[in-house]
Amino acid sequence: MGEVVFFQHTLATNVEKRLPAIAAYLGDYKKLIEIRNKGGEEEYIVLMKGDKEMFRDERKMRACIDNAFVFDGIVQQFGSFNEYILSFDPWNDENDYENLDRLLEDLDRRFVRFGAISPMHFLVHYGFPVIKPDSNIMRTFYRIGLTKSEKDYIGSVKAARRMAEATGVMVNSIDTFVTLGMKKGNEVCGKEPKCGLCDMQDLCRYCRQSQNEPT
Ligand code: SF4
Repeated sequence: MGEVVFFQHTLATNVEKRLPAIAAYLGDYKKLIEIRNKGGEEEYIVLMKGDKEMFRDERKMRACIDNAFVFDGIVQQFGSFNEYILSFDPWNDENDYENLDRLLEDLDRRFVRFGAISPMHFLVHYGFPVIKPDSNIMRTFYRIGLTKSEKDYIGSVKAARRMAEATGVMVNSIDTFVTLGMKKGNEVCGKEPKCGLCDMQDLCRYCRQSQNEPT
């Protein structure tokens, strides 16, 4: 069995060093349900917030407890989380990923504070044809000219799918190849892009435009 960690607007290093505490406090959804049902949630929140090994964001703590109930509801309804995923027939790509995209929307709708991008990150690890459109990828895709804005996460996923179809590469590997193409990922295509170091100069809209700007 695998384990997937979502960083969600938190630095990876801040999450990784807290993983043992996070797993101990929040890793068992049945325990969280029991704590709330027995009226122990407030005390449990105080306990977590007082632990130096734990993160401090109370809203995230409560969202985890909320989501324990969501997860349990899915298991009750479908028999298992896997069956819930499969109920969307998400591997069927004959309808241009429509089933998979319905699953993404449903995960966003059901889970508290999950947002639109975390379901994509989650399904990458299931091996589905989707990418995690983090801010570096969205910025780069926009600069290259593939999307409408730096926040266009749906456009980024669609662009990755087009790139995968054109190259025969798996969709969920596209973001890795893009960052490899920039040699050092966001260090190259960061807020101040170092286009002189980038292998995508000839293809990049932003780079061409900035070279044509009058000096
Ligand atoms: S050429 Fe410049 S703007 Fe374009 S992807 Fe590379 S670093 Fe980013």
